[in-house]
Amino acid sequence: MGPPGAGKGTQAKKLVEKFGVTHLSSGDILRAERSSGSALGKKLAEYMDAGKLVPDEIVVRVMAKALTGGAGGGLLLDGFPRTLPQAEALDAQLARAGRPLDAVVVMTAEPDLIVRRITGRRSCPRCGRVYHVEFMPPRTADVCDACGVALVRREDDAETVVRNRLAAYNRQTAPVVEYYHGRAGLKVIEVDGGKDADEVLARLVEAFEAMGAGGR
Ligand code: AMP
Repeated sequence: MGPPGAGKGTQAKKLVEKFGVTHLSSGDILRAERSSGSALGKKLAEYMDAGKLVPDEIVVRVMAKALTGGAGGGLLLDGFPRTLPQAEALDAQLARAGRPLDAVVVMTAEPDLIVRRITGRRSCPRCGRVYHVEFMPPRTADVCDACGVALVRREDDAETVVRNRLAAYNRQTAPVVEYYHGRAGLKVIEVDGGKDADEVLARLVEAFEAMGAGGR
């Protein structure tokens, strides 16, 4: 969990490689539905482009399907749950499956850093590789190193939309962190997402290994 730009996606990709778990990113799943051009996808675009949260009933339905579709083994949820009703729905589904949550990672970052990180973010429409105009530029400006195609910016990465996404996090998602705090048997790992990505990863790997997770 963490505000947009705290580094959730970046760390999730590295943790998936390290621990061999399945990555379920609600943002990626919703974006895929959105670009499919379905009726649901058109509805999603209205919320996503404005930086608003997609209504709970839709997200819960889409994520419940993704959760049951997994190949078994460990799961790393990224961007879900983002509201209390989503957290309750997830608890109910995991309880039915007999697979309780082991840990919650909470990543923090300062608002100004978040805006700088997100507005400079670019990605390759072909391979999905993510760059940053300032922090991780491609060899040739605005072109993917691997595919040679022009990089794109996510529509919801414009500054006004980022500010809305941040406000949505503070209003709707921060209470979910409180919901998990103090729950018996659930480890809450807090990290400063403003730090260098390798430093953040080292801290997360250490915390997971201390819980008995086997790395690759
Ligand atoms: P992300 O890639 O995680 O930043 O998500 C991008 C956008 O997808 C968000 O701004 C929301 O509009 C939508 N979204 C992703 N996950 C959720 C969620 N759990 N609940 C509601 N909306 C979501």
